[in-house]
Amino acid sequence: MPVYRFRCDSCGPFDASHTMAAVPDADACPECQAPSQRTITAPALGRGRSAAMGLLDATARTASEPGVVAGAPPGRRRSPGTPVSTDPRHRALPRP
Ligand SMILES: [Zn+2]
Repeated sequence: MPVYRFRCDSCGPFDASHTMAAVPDADACPECQAPSQRTITAPALGRGRSAAMGLLDATARTASEPGVVAGAPPGRRRSPGTPVSTDPRHRALPRP
């Protein structure tokens, strides 16, 4: 089912799924139950729960809710003194 956007006058916008054949012009706000008018938005087609959509949602969420980390991600650690790159062409690059 497509997702439609409604706007509550006191709570703001919210999304609700309805069939295309029975889209109401107003829906009850999930927070205050007040009738809320449907707003005209771009169609949210393909808003399923696929892995790609989950990745897009997580990427968009990092703009407003960035994750707080306590350190570097786990992985290979480079011990001090070891070269950053083993590519011999990188040794020919100018040094700062
Ligand atoms: Zn409301």
